[in-house]
Amino acid sequence: APAETVKPGFLGRLLGRKEQKTVTRRVLDDDMLEQLEELLITADMGVETSMRVTAAMAEGRYGKKLSVEEIKRLMAREVARIMEPVAKPMPLYRKTPQVVLVVGVNGSGKTTTIGKLASQFKAAGKSVVIAAGDTFRAAAVEQLQVWGERAGVPVLTAPEGSDPASLAFDAMTKAQESGADLLMIDTAGRLQNRQDLMEELAKIVRVIRKKDETAPHNTLLVLDATTGQNALSQVETFQKLADVSGLVMTKLDGTARGGVLVSLADKFGLPIHAIGVGEQIDDLAPFDPEEFAAALMG
Ligand code: GDP
Repeated sequence: APAETVKPGFLGRLLGRKEQKTVTRRVLDDDMLEQLEELLITADMGVETSMRVTAAMAEGRYGKKLSVEEIKRLMAREVARIMEPVAKPMPLYRKTPQVVLVVGVNGSGKTTTIGKLASQFKAAGKSVVIAAGDTFRAAAVEQLQVWGERAGVPVLTAPEGSDPASLAFDAMTKAQESGADLLMIDTAGRLQNRQDLMEELAKIVRVIRKKDETAPHNTLLVLDATTGQNALSQVETFQKLADVSGLVMTKLDGTARGGVLVSLADKFGLPIHAIGVGEQIDDLAPFDPEEFAAALMG
């Protein structure tokens, strides 16, 4: 079922109404564990991860009577345990310009995320340059320019349809000359022709390494949390196309409950650097595992 159908408080509804909570205790037996597992799957956590969470919950407690609150707390604790190791802000290095390559499918929120990140870095006193590397999508370039203006950060562009690698090379030169702290490079997100995209990304990496062999220092994959389990196959795909070093999960505001983050953390262990919680420039937050787990339980 899509994440949208899962409303806050889903666990509470299964386990009993609010007024019964203090008195209702449930036996943690196979039937109960199966129901909990189903719930986690419905919340986009995937089968394997859901099984792992319920198995961990049952450890040493199988057959015991637990209150609704205890079950919730237990579940939240297991989820937080999976999420804690991946909650890491994007590392900042001494080496400048730090080159941040940003990848992801169109519509995932790449442009928006670059704008938000640029604004945060700028507020932290860093000088930032953005390269509009999706040269085949005029709309994407325009959007990025709008975000650049909002963030007060220059956006380097190239004529429509020109080689993104050549823009990346020029951007690298300019960032070095101007002593910028960070260079963020947007990239194309059309998965229709993977071979094409793979070559394009590889070429960008090749040319920026001519200027700094340690670049790119971060390769961020932007994922839309509302796509549910699709996010997993996107990680697999982009890991083949680029050396993904971390994730930004977008659209965690609104109805999406974000269970897929647990699945992602469990399966890939890639750091989650930040989460998108809206369309405005300040709507990018650090990932907080405890808060996330509590919110997920409803
Ligand atoms: P791109 O094609 O990957 O560059 O995606 P965009 O940055 O253009 O974003 C696609 C849409 O998602 C836009 O309408 C954004 O406003 C929206 N969007 C991006 N991030 C978030 C977020 O965290 N929350 C919400 N609600 N919308 C977002």
